[in-house]
Amino acid sequence: MSLRGFLEQMERQRKILHIKDRVSRRFEAACVMKSFDFEGPILAFEDVEDYDGEIVANVCGTRERIAAALAVEKDQLYNRLIEAWRSPLKPKIVKNGSVKEVRETTVDLSKIPVLTHFEKDAAPYITSAIVHAKSLDGKVENVSVHRLQILDKTRLLIRLVPRHLFKLWSMAKAAGKDLDVAICVGVHPAVLLAASSPVDFGVDEFDVANSFLGDHLHLINCNDVEACAPAESELVLEGRISGTEEILEGPFVDITGTYDVQRKQPIVKVVGVMHRKDYVYEALLPSGAEHRLLMGLPHEALIWEAVSKVVPKVGAVNLTLGGSGWLHAVISIEKQTEGDGKNALIAAFAAHPSLKHAVVVDLDIDVFNLNEIEWAVATRFQVTEDLIVVPNVRGSTLDSSANQETGLTSKMGIDATRPFSKPKEKFDRAKTCVDKRFASIVEKMHNCA
Ligand code: MN
Repeated sequence: MSLRGFLEQMERQRKILHIKDRVSRRFEAACVMKSFDFEGPILAFEDVEDYDGEIVANVCGTRERIAAALAVEKDQLYNRLIEAWRSPLKPKIVKNGSVKEVRETTVDLSKIPVLTHFEKDAAPYITSAIVHAKSLDGKVENVSVHRLQILDKTRLLIRLVPRHLFKLWSMAKAAGKDLDVAICVGVHPAVLLAASSPVDFGVDEFDVANSFLGDHLHLINCNDVEACAPAESELVLEGRISGTEEILEGPFVDITGTYDVQRKQPIVKVVGVMHRKDYVYEALLPSGAEHRLLMGLPHEALIWEAVSKVVPKVGAVNLTLGGSGWLHAVISIEKQTEGDGKNALIAAFAAHPSLKHAVVVDLDIDVFNLNEIEWAVATRFQVTEDLIVVPNVRGSTLDSSANQETGLTSKMGIDATRPFSKPKEKFDRAKTCVDKRFASIVEKMHNCA
């Protein structure tokens, strides 16, 4: 189960756009990625300036492709995610894998075609890597996604959000040690999705990935560090996160498309490089649809599960791309009693603390269609009755409008479900009325248009 296998599958379905024009790694490739963002195809850059190999991008750029990676229909995605989070499965560790085909004798990060994405970026950044690490006693393992800034031929800077890898690093640091890591680029999309899943500290996301892949994920042990990598990764950097050396990271663009604040972050010393013979380098556009989907989709599942506990049925959840896949949610529910809409909002805010604005609609509204959502707000929502405002609470650090000193933000919930106090007919959308024969004629008109 590899990225390559997935790309072959996508090639058969004609989901890959092969780009023959020459592009540079500095700005040009990212410019093409941005121009194809939102519902765009997988991009394969075949002619990269001063580089022999190929770069792929936007692999997980649509919900359809993520569903295909997990081998489920789109409407079964959340069930599949939650099921795998609850039933992690240890992958087999094998001796050999295709990532071991080439072991570089010297470390030289300038040989890797890392992209520079936006105007004010500090340096080229690796953005699609998953990072595996173990606690010093080997009892806790973790896999997560981190951006990595290229410092020079052998050193990177890693952004550690205070979560699980940060905790493992802090534990190593307290023991006076560096933390060994495997930085894996070009893994199967299911592994990326597992690495961005909100499972507890102590759950190894490789086990979640293996569950996604029906026990077909194989790992190898690294040569020079105490960490593991998928045996069929395209490229693996073996490194040590320094327990003593930290410098200012960035500037770099985060999920909202604005520049993140700069912070001191630890240096990673790369001690080994291995890769497939003709490895494909995977790029990922910061703040692009792919970034937003990989971060957002697992949290949609959390919201779906939490709201399901307070209302009879949840139709769908959309952490909208416009809301950066993180700050805005639209949730459709089957409302049984007055007040269900507001309970759904409260459950959603509790399930995803970064959520800032949320809209709840009835099942007849498509949460992926912004026109329908706006129509529901226009015709079913009364601001004096149906609005929840929560001032000064903790939200996302990525919200540019949050209070600069306290980090606090304010939240808004819009209950745009039909009120039961008024006659149902007032809220029904008028439907057309034709027989099946004519409906198929209309369908044909569309196929020809
Ligand atoms: Mn974790």
